[in-house]
Amino acid sequence: MTENWLIDNYKRISENINIAAEKAGNEVTFLAATKTVPPEIINNAIDLGLRYIGENRVQEFLSKNDKINPAAHRHFIGHLQTNKVKDIVGKAELIHSVDSVHLAKEISKKSKNLNIVTNILLEVNIGKEESKSGIAEEEVYKKLEEIIKFDGINVKGLMTIPPICSEKAEIRKYFSKMYKLFIEIKNNKLYNSNMVYLSMGMSGDYIEAIEEGANIVRIGTALFGKRNY
Ligand SMILES: *Cc1c(COP(=O)(O)O)cnc(C)c1O
Repeated sequence: MTENWLIDNYKRISENINIAAEKAGNEVTFLAATKTVPPEIINNAIDLGLRYIGENRVQEFLSKNDKINPAAHRHFIGHLQTNKVKDIVGKAELIHSVDSVHLAKEISKKSKNLNIVTNILLEVNIGKEESKSGIAEEEVYKKLEEIIKFDGINVKGLMTIPPICSEKAEIRKYFSKMYKLFIEIKNNKLYNSNMVYLSMGMSGDYIEAIEEGANIVRIGTALFGKRNY
């Protein structure tokens, strides 16, 4: 039985995404951030049409993976430790959170072992926050140049989690900075890259993110309700 609140949230968010996407002239992927959400509820959302889900912890990704409807594409969106790469490679279609050359190298190595190519995004620490992982804005070109040389991985775009901002205008500045960076790399095909995805925007700011150029939004609480930690 799919609960009414889930139907309402799913419909409302989908509509908001469609309106903002049309305004921006972009196609936008609605990815649900499913941390702490039980597989039954995730499957209910998939029944409603949800097709992209993202976990941010390896252990939780693995324990829920078999219980989730195969119709959904699985992404990994959280901080990934090098020693856990082997558990995720081959199971996640896109890893959003590659924040170092070292991590990219390990994903490359494990992917080559399996004879596959893993799609990744580079996570950018756009707010220069010490508490957050991600590549510094001014290092993105340099790191991309190194990472793109590895076999077994395909750098498909950029991802960010901007600082918490009380003003929408302030958060738009971060989104817009990210978009500029993304477009510069994409349009110039820097280092022969082929970037397609800009993953940014969460429950509180996904509309602004889309308006500023995001084409993947990662939404948790607006869809599933408040998490109980
Ligand atoms: C939890 C999470 C989200 C979604 O956050 P909400 O504010 O609940 O929408 C997005 N991205 C990442 C990496 C997350 O871990």
